[in-house]
Amino acid sequence: MTHQAQEIQNDKAIFSSILHVMKIHILPQEVADQIAAGEVVERPASVVKELMENAIDAGATQIDVFIEDGGKRLIEVRDNGTGMSPDDAQKCVLRHATSKISTIDDVFSIRSFGFRGEALAAISAISDCEIITKQREDESGTRVQVNAGKLINVESAPANTGTIFRVKNLFAPVPARLAHLKNTSTEMSAIRREFESFALTHPHIRFKLFRDETFVLDFPVDEQFNRVAAIMDEDPRALIEVEGTFPAVKIYGWTLQPGRCGTSKKSQLLWVNGRHIEDHKLAWAIREAY
Ligand code: ADP
Ligand code: MG
Repeated sequence: MTHQAQEIQNDKAIFSSILHVMKIHILPQEVADQIAAGEVVERPASVVKELMENAIDAGATQIDVFIEDGGKRLIEVRDNGTGMSPDDAQKCVLRHATSKISTIDDVFSIRSFGFRGEALAAISAISDCEIITKQREDESGTRVQVNAGKLINVESAPANTGTIFRVKNLFAPVPARLAHLKNTSTEMSAIRREFESFALTHPHIRFKLFRDETFVLDFPVDEQFNRVAAIMDEDPRALIEVEGTFPAVKIYGWTLQPGRCGTSKKSQLLWVNGRHIEDHKLAWAIREAY
C-alpha cells in the first residue's frame, strides 16, 4: 500500500469511530435536568438568589436565610408570603412550572422576578430538597421531599403561613460540579453579597441571615438610605441624595463626599427596577461624572 493510500485508510478508520460515538440518542430526563440545572445554578449563591426571588414574588414581608458550610450542607429560606396549596407544592419543582405567566405576551409585561419556571426544577435536580408550605386559607400545610429530582414523599404537616424551602447537599448528585466550588468562606461571601443586594432594593422587607446557626445580619424594615448606609458600612448622615428625571428613566441614589469614595468595584452598587446589576459602562460613567 502506498503511503497516501495508508493515510486515507487511517482517516476512514478515525472518521468511522467518530461516527460511532456521534450516533444520536435521547438523554435520560434525569441527565437532561442535571445539565439544564448547570445553567441556573452555578454556586450556592445562585440558589440563595432564586429562593429569595421566589419569597419576594410571594409577597413576603419577612425573609430569613440559613446557611451551613457556605451553602454546601444547607441553604434554607423561610418566608411569610402566600404559601402554596398542596397541589402547587408538588408541582413547583417540575420544569416549566410557574404561576407567573401563561402566554408569551405575559413575558413583556412581567412584574415578578421569576417567570421561566426553571429554578426549583433545577435546584431540586441537583440536591435534596424539602418544602414546607401553607396558604393562609388552608387548615394544614404540606411537606414535600425531593431527592436528586425524585419525589420521595408528600404529606400534610403543621406549618405557619408561608414557605420554608430547604436545600441540602447541593451538587451531591453531580460530583464534578461539587469539585468546582470555592472554599466555605468564599462561597459565604458570595451568598452575603446576594443577600445584601436584595436587602438594598427591598427596604420594606425584613431580612435576617444566619450562618452555621449564628445570627449574622438583621435588616429591619427601614428607609432605603439607612439600608444603603448599613450595607456600605457608612454613617447615614454622610450620604448625599442624588436624583435626576429624564423622559424614559428616573435615576436616584446616594453618594458620599468626593475623597471619601472607595476605588474598588464593591464601592458602587447599581440596581434597575429593584434588581441588582453589574454593568461596566454604567459604573464607568458614574465614576467619570462623579
Ligand atoms: P418561577 O419563579 O420562574 O415561576 P420557580 O421554579 O422559581 O419558577 O418557582 C415555580 C413556582 O413555584 C412559582 O411560579 C410559584 O408559583 C411557586 N413558588 C416558588 N417559591 C415560592 C414561595 N416561596 N412562595 C410561594 N410560591 C412559591
Ligand atoms: Mg423563581
